[in-house]
Amino acid sequence: MTAAASTERVHVTIRCRPPNSTELAKSDYSNVVEIQSEQHVAVEKSLGETKKYNFDHVLGPDTTQQKVFEACGMEVVDSCLNGYNGTIMAYGQTGTGKTFTLSNHTPGQEGVISRAMVRLFETADRDPDHDYEITVSYIQIYREMVQDLLDTTKDNLAIRENNNGMYLDGVTKRRVTHVDEVIGVITEGNTNRVVANTKMNAESSRSHAVLFTYIDRVDKMDERVYTENKNTKRTKLSGKLVLLDLAGSERMKRTKAVGVQAQEGRAINLSLTALGNVIHALSDPKIKHIPYRDSKLTRLLADSLGGDAKTSLLVAVGPDSESSQETCNSLNFAQRAM
Ligand code: ADP
Ligand code: MG
Repeated sequence: MTAAASTERVHVTIRCRPPNSTELAKSDYSNVVEIQSEQHVAVEKSLGETKKYNFDHVLGPDTTQQKVFEACGMEVVDSCLNGYNGTIMAYGQTGTGKTFTLSNHTPGQEGVISRAMVRLFETADRDPDHDYEITVSYIQIYREMVQDLLDTTKDNLAIRENNNGMYLDGVTKRRVTHVDEVIGVITEGNTNRVVANTKMNAESSRSHAVLFTYIDRVDKMDERVYTENKNTKRTKLSGKLVLLDLAGSERMKRTKAVGVQAQEGRAINLSLTALGNVIHALSDPKIKHIPYRDSKLTRLLADSLGGDAKTSLLVAVGPDSESSQETCNSLNFAQRAM
């Protein structure tokens, strides 16, 4: 496992979505999230009780998808193009905009994934000195099982480690050369996700969806030089970009959950707690042991969170008073990374 020698802390962005029509239609609707500056946000927990927070970026309801990408995505993508691993993850209560932020594909309103892919392919196409090979995998983690969304027969993949880092044994990989192909792969995976989840009687908000992008870059070399001197080695750099849409962080009504639902809840709590502990450990140079092994999710991300990997956490929140407790819970989670 990678040592925490030169570890960077996780970069944190908060995004508050606009109120939706249902919220606005309520006679007692009130907005409890106040964006005080580009780094400061205050939440009114109850009448007269306000909690203030400080993050790398605080983005309000008017923020464009491009601005969101610039705040939480661009730097990670660029470092992956230079041979590092990186993670962009979306955390928050169901309905706050995690999926909208990451995987919306509506023209003009594209999310982080589309923008990241456009940047990858544009950089690759313009680079006169290197050749690129870009492949993707798409999986979900449900009840501590890693399921291949591009091959539903693979429903419990093993997480392994070799000299190159962590990998999923036998996971499907697809070569991609254009953003539209990536969206095609995601659409195919999401269709499988719905089928698989229906079979398991699960909702997509109860599992983590992870898109892996593997970027291999080799030096371009004059073909003649290469054939004349077989000993000439082309330098190869490999980066991995992880895009993660986490399960809804809302607390389950404990009394109501039984059977499979209770198992789901336990698995989500386990992995989100483990993730919180890892991002907290990365924020404190005094903590030497990063507890990656405590869940499938953190183990899978062990080579893409901390160390020399760039990590960006996007925490999505809603503006309404009814969610104020969950909003504070989410911001408290985010606070642990700072
Ligand atoms: P989550 O994935 O966190 O459960 P979604 O991304 O599905 O939440 O968002 C819930 C709803 O809110 C969707 O209809 C989505 O289009 C809308 N929404 C979320 N964020 C925004 C935003 N910033 N601007 C406009 N609509 C949004
Ligand atoms: Mg979602």
